[in-house]
Amino acid sequence: MTAKTDPAHDHFETLAIHAGQEPDPTTGSVIPPIYQTSTYAQEAVGAASSGGKNGRPVYEYSRTGNPTRAALETCLARLEAGQFGLAFASGMAATDTIMRLLRPGDHVIVGNDVYGGTYRLFEKVGAPFGLTFDYVDSSDISQIEAKVGAQTRMVWLETPTNPLLRLADIARISELARGYGVRVVVDNTFATPFAQQPLSLGADLVVHSTTKYLGGHSDVIGGAILGKDPGLREELAFLQNAVGAVPGPFDCWLTLRGIKTLAVRMQAHSANALALAEFLERHPAVESVIYPGLPSHPQHALARQQMRCFGGMVTFTARGGEAAARSIVEATRVFTLAESLGGVESLIELPAQMTHASTSGSGMDVPANLIRLSVGIEHVDDLREDLARALG
Ligand SMILES: *Cc1c(COP(=O)(O)O)cnc(C)c1O
Repeated sequence: MTAKTDPAHDHFETLAIHAGQEPDPTTGSVIPPIYQTSTYAQEAVGAASSGGKNGRPVYEYSRTGNPTRAALETCLARLEAGQFGLAFASGMAATDTIMRLLRPGDHVIVGNDVYGGTYRLFEKVGAPFGLTFDYVDSSDISQIEAKVGAQTRMVWLETPTNPLLRLADIARISELARGYGVRVVVDNTFATPFAQQPLSLGADLVVHSTTKYLGGHSDVIGGAILGKDPGLREELAFLQNAVGAVPGPFDCWLTLRGIKTLAVRMQAHSANALALAEFLERHPAVESVIYPGLPSHPQHALARQQMRCFGGMVTFTARGGEAAARSIVEATRVFTLAESLGGVESLIELPAQMTHASTSGSGMDVPANLIRLSVGIEHVDDLREDLARALG
């Protein structure tokens, strides 16, 4: 590594801009080029697999490795305080690759309000393959411990959860799991590594949908796995290449560009989200507000301890039930009615009908009148006025 990313310059903001992104050795290009190539000239038969000259990495085929992807993987690994990073075509592809570490009969303990697509993958793809899943309230560590059995291999967490914004105590759960020889995977999409670094708290793997805050501009789908253990790296890199759900170089480049501003964006998302959560908490048309940054959040103390900021996701329930909630989400003008999250623009949605429709019947109770906000970085007054008008 060059001086730019040596440990003397390892603040998050600096790493987000420089890690893995030294000026390109062939041209001096400050920004990593989009290496739009499928294959690479080899110096001799078998030269690629016997290692590079002068420490230069050797590429042979872009499913296996690509320099633009390598820049993204290095950057993400540094931001999550990991030893390795692997980028994927989507968050679900990253999750699927972790599932492939398991064998029929293996058991996984899962937080009960995980991302709807994760639940669908586990139940509709993993279960028929012979994996078994138990869903528990991961904010209650005793529920996790109660489900650990001889076949348990993994605990799968999101924190804050989606959409109920409950927190899981990553350090305590990781310690508990280690005692049983069980791996902990944290989907860190909602918090981002700016707000919390699960690997530093004891988790074995972090998974991301980089589609959300990391990319940050709602213009690319991507995923990643970050970790520390070299053995796990080897298994997962094998699967990445063997299964092949890799991102293209342009998508990696867009994601890298987004990541450069992650720190300032997360601070702006968090400040706006807190202001709106406080506004909603006082509004007569609102029943209750969930935001980890509010003192009324049941786990506010854990949030302060585990997170550096509280993020841009706010949920609230509307008085007047589902009909009232539906009319609110259809009435905003600055907030766009849409799925997804984590972009600079504000979005609003009804999880029970939209993002979490695939979890109905799972015992994950998403109230019909629950509204989810992905608070963007527009001016907070415009966002507050928009909500005030929609709430009537
Ligand atoms: C969006 C999302 C995913 C899935 O990621 P894709 O990039 O859409 O495949 C997984 N987990 C969480 C928490 C998400 O928000």
